[in-house]
Amino acid sequence: MPKQDYYEVLGTNQGADAQAIKTAYRTMAMKYHPDRNPGNSEAAEKMKQVNEAYAVLSDEKNRSLYDSYGHSGLEGYTQEDIFRSVDFSMLFREFGLGDLFGGVFGASAGRRSRSRRGSDLRYDLEVTLEEVARGVQKTAQISRTSRCPGCSGTGAEVGGRIECSTCRGTGQSVRQEIVDFGVVRQITTCATCGGTGAIITGPCKTCDGIGRIRETVEIKVDIPAGADTGYAIKMTGEGEGGESLPGDLYIVVNVLQHPVFERQGDDIFLRQEIDITTLALGGRVQVPSLNGDVDIDVPEGTQPGTVVKIPGGGLPRSDGYGTGDQYVVVKVVTPTGLSRSEKELLERFQKLRRRSEHDGDEQD
Ligand SMILES: [Zn+2]
Ligand SMILES: [Zn+2]
Repeated sequence: MPKQDYYEVLGTNQGADAQAIKTAYRTMAMKYHPDRNPGNSEAAEKMKQVNEAYAVLSDEKNRSLYDSYGHSGLEGYTQEDIFRSVDFSMLFREFGLGDLFGGVFGASAGRRSRSRRGSDLRYDLEVTLEEVARGVQKTAQISRTSRCPGCSGTGAEVGGRIECSTCRGTGQSVRQEIVDFGVVRQITTCATCGGTGAIITGPCKTCDGIGRIRETVEIKVDIPAGADTGYAIKMTGEGEGGESLPGDLYIVVNVLQHPVFERQGDDIFLRQEIDITTLALGGRVQVPSLNGDVDIDVPEGTQPGTVVKIPGGGLPRSDGYGTGDQYVVVKVVTPTGLSRSEKELLERFQKLRRRSEHDGDEQD
């Protein structure tokens, strides 16, 4: 199949100036770009022709060869020779179109920025229930890497750094690759200098040329009253040091299991053993609370499993308004190790009880 005239492909003519050629190319790209014609192989083929036509006509030397000799003027030119002069990814971005090349640009750019920022750190901080009841300031011992203070992170002593000749100090290596739709320029980190753009000839003595040091720092952190397990406090810039920005530090609260209290949200539960006579006769019982021991009233005839509420005896509510409650769940202790006279009393009590139950039955 004879090759179509490049001017025709772009829908323009030989008299068009560089701007007019670009405008014509833009019109075609908007029409045939695969983003706008998903799965349409005809459009894809057309896009390929349009790209080739633009690659030739936007380059002064190639265009004059084409103008003088037609397609034969470019005989012996490889696809790569033709496409070398155009960065299609840049053009498409300018037109607001996708870059066609499977996100090569996006992917490599993302990798670069991730590697430059330091990693985030997580530190689990254990606190007691009493501590979170009031809020507490704790000290966290964080072991992390930081920018070396001896060389400000360059890894080189003064004058111990030369520009990388592979990438001429840019830290990037540019690779061109022919793909279906033209040439894609792939930017990767320079392998010679690892992206720093420099070669170290005299390494820093503090960090042995690494640019970062391992350090342990103490960081004070305020745990707010009412915090529960899983509560996280973000400390910006306190994570691992990176080539550019340090990462963040997340302090994650872990409230330790309490020996007597059981936490349920903002409320606390206490299972309290009470002797059988107090439950039967009623009385005051001292129970532990988050604010020290308190007295509660046990009414006459209290059954096991009864719940006595101490209003405001819980933790500050997580929304900041008010306080949870304490609930005392009554448990019975059966007396053991009875003395002779205690036994006699209980036996007497038992007899009286049986008699009154019997009398009660008769009355029914
Ligand atoms: Zn250093
Ligand atoms: Zn380099």
